Amino acid sequence: MMSIWKKGIKSLKDDTELDREVDILIIGGGVAGITTLYLLSHEKKNVLLIDKGRIGYGVTSNTTGKITYLQDHIYEDISKMYDENTASQYLRSQLEACSFIKDTILKEKITCNYKEVDSYVFATKQEEIEQLNWLKTFLENNHIKSEIQKELPVSLPCLASLKGEKSAVFHPLKYLYKLARISLKRGAKIKEYVRAYDIDKKETYEVKTDKGSIKAKQVIVCTHYPFFVKPGYVPLKTHVESSYIVSSIVDECKPVSCITYQKPVLSLRYHQDRKSYLLFASQSDKITKCVDPLENYQELEEKFSKYFKTSIQEMWSTHDIMPNDYLPLIGEIDDDLYLATGFQKWGMTNGTIAGILISDLILGHNNEYRELFSPKRKYNLKRCYHTIIDGIDTVKAMTISLLKKQPVDIRYENGKRIGVYTDSNGVEHKIHTLCPHMKCHLCFNEEDLTWECPCHGSKFDVDGNLLEGPSVFDNCTNCQKE
Ligand SMILES: Cc1cc2nc3c(=O)[nH]c(=O)nc-3n(C[C@H](O)[C@H](O)[C@H](O)COP(=O)(O)OP(=O)(O)OC[C@H]3O[C@@H](n4cnc5c(N)ncnc54)[C@H](O)[C@@H]3O)c2cc1C
Repeated sequence: MMSIWKKGIKSLKDDTELDREVDILIIGGGVAGITTLYLLSHEKKNVLLIDKGRIGYGVTSNTTGKITYLQDHIYEDISKMYDENTASQYLRSQLEACSFIKDTILKEKITCNYKEVDSYVFATKQEEIEQLNWLKTFLENNHIKSEIQKELPVSLPCLASLKGEKSAVFHPLKYLYKLARISLKRGAKIKEYVRAYDIDKKETYEVKTDKGSIKAKQVIVCTHYPFFVKPGYVPLKTHVESSYIVSSIVDECKPVSCITYQKPVLSLRYHQDRKSYLLFASQSDKITKCVDPLENYQELEEKFSKYFKTSIQEMWSTHDIMPNDYLPLIGEIDDDLYLATGFQKWGMTNGTIAGILISDLILGHNNEYRELFSPKRKYNLKRCYHTIIDGIDTVKAMTISLLKKQPVDIRYENGKRIGVYTDSNGVEHKIHTLCPHMKCHLCFNEEDLTWECPCHGSKFDVDGNLLEGPSVFDNCTNCQKE
């Protein structure tokens, strides 16, 4: 199952040697890493970006690609966790990111199907109508016009909707590949298929990769989930949510994007390329609660056919990292070591603001969001409570995944628990079922033929080759790192 964004994206030309010593090393080429690269290359910095696969092929390739400040219940959550001023500051950051993307597309003449659309947040339950009214007042206080309506211009169940000022949609990979190519022209370097697995600091940083070590004065970690367990607090400050998306070919694209105010999530946008597409996302929940991906795909299919008459073209699922105080984690975590993560399913804007903020920090410029998004910000009581609940959910998921009957063979070999998938030719594919990241038990996904960690989201193929982190190690029966 493949997201529509990956189709027809031409690879970068790569005929250079891997640099072993640079001023700035960016690890991870999603929206956060590439935006940072683009901005630093503008300043003629000696900067190298590495990615363990193709750039843009991580979570960014699986997004719905809405560029919007109108993000479900986030402002209410931040107001309750902190206060309304903090929520307003977050809103300003999202508006700045929306403008940055639009201005960059115009300035660099990027063809990426950018289109301004009407954006809606909508209520499917009575109690959410009150919350939409709160959101309207909040937006008004921040000088943004919105209106409450009774319905939506699409066939989703709706009791009331809030229509905001213009938001936009685009093709995320066309946008990122153009930024990458501009950065290369300015002298920045990109090396794909280089996987970082450890980081050490002596006089400078030394990043260990599967292609040897790279020394750098400054390191920016944009790997979605950090690839190292130190600083170990990232698993404590966040949880991972999975979501499922379908695309369908339709007769006409409507200039609309929308999302429910509360869960269950129903999210929709259209995409106009050579054909017209409808993208619909749902089944969003903590991965600790969704240990059965097949069930989620089936429920998504059922929902889609209930609301739409067209047939499903592609289906895919993806993860995003949810900070437990509703603010992304962007900034310095140690001297000259920067992190960008926790975009809570709004990474087109938060990944963009990460690029702006981190490049400002490196260039010594002021940035209003430095303290707001600092990964070192202090815990308050409510945040501690969320951390405890997330911890309990993880322990529950670890136990359920151990007891859960897997749709493949589980055996013990040399005292180790092994998962065995037998393919249609009768060939056995084996994997250790313990995730190398933090030792959760992996669950088999029959639909995608992958093994998935229900605690932090690492994915492996049937032979144990790593597909997605946070694990940085393969998990095959003859290659696991102890
Ligand atoms: C269902 C869904 C829908 C979404 N829709 C929207 C939307 O409409 N609008 C919006 O704003 N946001 C949306 N998001 C969120 C957004 O897609 C993500 O937040 C964003 O793409 C994350 O970008 P990233 O750069 O952090 O990560 P990624 O895109 O995953 O990039 C990280 C990169 O790091 C590389 N990497 C990882 N580990 C290593 C390593 N050890 N060594 C080297 N490289 C490594 C990976 O290969 C990858 O290319 C959605 C998320 C989900 C789950």
